[in-house]
Amino acid sequence: MSPRPASPVVGIVPAGGSGERLGADRPKAFVVCAGRPLVEWSIEVLSAVCDRVIVAAPAGHLRPGWVEGGASRSASVRNALDDAPEARTVVVHDAARPLVTRQLVESCLGALLGVDGAIAAAPVSDTIKQAYPDGTVERTLDRSRLWAAQTPQVFRADALRRALDVEDDVLAAATDDASLVEAAGGSVRVVEAPPENFKVTSTSDLARAEALLC
Ligand code: C5P
Repeated sequence: MSPRPASPVVGIVPAGGSGERLGADRPKAFVVCAGRPLVEWSIEVLSAVCDRVIVAAPAGHLRPGWVEGGASRSASVRNALDDAPEARTVVVHDAARPLVTRQLVESCLGALLGVDGAIAAAPVSDTIKQAYPDGTVERTLDRSRLWAAQTPQVFRADALRRALDVEDDVLAAATDDASLVEAAGGSVRVVEAPPENFKVTSTSDLARAEALLC
């Protein structure tokens, strides 16, 4: 059995985005998917593993114990973490990935031994090109070592607090929290995620999630 991470373990669900690509009448996290708002699926899984779960939501969607989201995804995470000074381990999971499983969260927690962060990720199956803005290819990357980063992302709380203690424009430029931990000198490990842990971005993603959750 994996050693338990340091307690308390606090779950953070960033759900503060507008998610306009779905074209719904409400923020993406609150669009109904298989009978419940998208965010509820992540709250349920994190609640089974964490001592407490904090959701960062848009102002009009707050509930008791939640915090208001920030201007960027990582600013939303920082707002939630500021509300949890007791946290020693943090599980961050996007509302936009409703098919997360308890097993995946636990695998990430189990991989936290000896590192600052452990993140769900998928091995890349396409060949990845790095191109200039005009489309000319600069180089081809070594696919065998590439991973697409997802959530859940679990961290030692002190490492995440240090990583998020940066200017708002640095937070806004970050596309995940692990990159901020890496930039602060922290060590991060990938944990292979199943294909079901995809992110709901388009209406076809929403339909696919609904079919799998029903
Ligand atoms: O837009 P995207 O799907 O990348 O957002 C990932 C997650 O970050 C979503 O769950 C979204 O609600 C959340 N988010 C947030 N605060 C923002 C922007 C996005 O909590 N300002």
